[in-house]
Amino acid sequence: VLEVDGLTKKFGGLVAVDDFSFEVDEGEIVGLIGPNGSGKSTVFNCIMGIYGVTDGAIRFNGTDITDDSTHEVVNKGLSRVSQESNPIDSMSVAGNIKLFTLPNSIVSLRGGASEEEIYDYAARIDIEEHLHEMPGELPHADVRRLEIAKSLATEPEMMLLDEPFAGMNQAEITELADQIERFREQGMSMVVVDHNMGGLMDLVDRIVVLNNGDFLAEGTPEEIAENEQVQEAYLAGE
Ligand code: ATP
Ligand code: MG
Repeated sequence: VLEVDGLTKKFGGLVAVDDFSFEVDEGEIVGLIGPNGSGKSTVFNCIMGIYGVTDGAIRFNGTDITDDSTHEVVNKGLSRVSQESNPIDSMSVAGNIKLFTLPNSIVSLRGGASEEEIYDYAARIDIEEHLHEMPGELPHADVRRLEIAKSLATEPEMMLLDEPFAGMNQAEITELADQIERFREQGMSMVVVDHNMGGLMDLVDRIVVLNNGDFLAEGTPEEIAENEQVQEAYLAGE
């Protein structure tokens, strides 16, 4: 479904991502991990057309999306959940989801979702009971779920999740991993970024490791957990 081929992204003299390639097959969940600053979010920003790429190509369902705008990428069925939550605090949870579907929104697909549709997006990630609350009243884990509901509201075929488990306790991580697993059963392909492997062990089919913008390793969660080069990279990054 997704092919990233020789992606390079420079910021001035800084090479944030260096000739990095990976692929995601249909229905697959791929983990993307790496120490702080290794380029994980930059890869997502390049795929989503938020950053222009310095070199390389990105294809989605066989179509070249390398130079697409974010709006075009979202319209083709890709959506991203940012590392930072950015709800509008003066709007309800429902309002925040709806905003993502309005015509003037950067990610909008159509003329605004109906109440029923908004309920369905929220229910897919189990926050439908909070639709009429304000984001500021929600615990961290539900604010993160709101971000996922916003992403679902663009009706993606594939979702890129940037550190969805950050700041969650073990029970919350397990619950969210189960919910993400449900998306897979509904036919969605995903890339899940995590700083370490915490939430990924039982969730992903494959893990790709980035280090200083370079590809470091790829394998099953078990293989990556035992990979000495990966352990060294994390120790060096501490
Ligand atoms: P983290 O685990 O902290 O989220 P990351 O793996 O997501 O890290 P990136 O945020 O992709 O890493 O950053 C990779 C490198 O690119 C870092 O050195 C970062 O400072 C740099 N970088 C990212 N975005 C920009 C930008 N807009 N302008 C300049 N440098 C940037
Ligand atoms: Mg990041």
